[in-house]
Amino acid sequence: MTEFNLIVAVYIFFAGACVGSFLNVCIYRIPENISVVKPRSSCPKCNTAIPFYLNIPIFGYLVLKGRCRFCNTSISFRYPAVELLTAAFALILYVQFSFTPVMVFWFAFISTLITISFIDFDHRIIPDLISLPGIVIFSSSFLILPDMTIQQTGLGILAGGGSLYMVALIYYLIKKEEGMGGGDIKLLAMIGAATGVKGVIFTIFTGSLLGTIGGIAMMVSQKMVNSKLKIPFGPFLSMGAILYIFFGDRLITWYLSTLIH
Ligand SMILES: [Zn+2]
Repeated sequence: MTEFNLIVAVYIFFAGACVGSFLNVCIYRIPENISVVKPRSSCPKCNTAIPFYLNIPIFGYLVLKGRCRFCNTSISFRYPAVELLTAAFALILYVQFSFTPVMVFWFAFISTLITISFIDFDHRIIPDLISLPGIVIFSSSFLILPDMTIQQTGLGILAGGGSLYMVALIYYLIKKEEGMGGGDIKLLAMIGAATGVKGVIFTIFTGSLLGTIGGIAMMVSQKMVNSKLKIPFGPFLSMGAILYIFFGDRLITWYLSTLIH
C-alpha cells in the first residue's frame, strides 16, 4: 500500500462529492424516465435552472442554507447527504486500497448500490436499467480484483440470482403472493458478479439480519402492525455487500471461530 497523500485525498473527496451529485440526478430522474444528461439541474418548485457556482456539491447547499435562492423553497437535505456519503466512501476506499484499479472498481460498485438503495427506498423498485448493465460491468471483477477468478464471477452471478429466485419461488408457492421483487434477484446477481459466491452468502445473511432489524424499526416508528408493510430489501442487501468489501473476511473468520469453540 502506497503512502497516504493529503492532497490526493482532498481531490478524491471532492471528486467523490461530484459523483454523489450525479447520483442524486440518477436517483430522481431514472424512475421518472427523464434523461440524466440533458436538462440542467433546476429547482423542483420554480424550475429556475441552478447556476453552476451554486451546483457545487455540499458547498452549494451550505451557501444557499438549504433554500432555493429564487423562490425560497427548502431543498431536501438528502442532496448534500448523498454527496457527503459518496465522498466519504471515496475517501475510505482511498485509505484502504490507495488510488488503484481495485479502489475505482469498488467505488463504482458502491456508487451503484447507493443509487439503487435510494430509488428502492423511494419507489420500491430496482430499475433493470441499472442492475442489468451492473451485472455486465461488475463481471470485470475477475480482471481487477486479486482474489477473484472467472469461475468465481460466474458462480457468484448464478448463486446471487439463483438463491433469491429459490426463496421467492418457495414464498410464492406457500403464500401464493409475491414477497420479493424480481429487482432484488437481479441486484443480488450483480452483487455476486462483484463479490463471488462467498460475497453472496455473506450479503444474504447480513442483509436479512439488517433487514429484519430495520423492518421492525420501521414498523415501530410508523406504529404499523400491518405485516404486509412493504419493506425495501435493496438498501439492506446493499449494506450487506458494502460490509463484505471492508469486513467480510474478518467477520467470516470470526463467525467460523465461534462455531468451532
Ligand atoms: Zn425555486
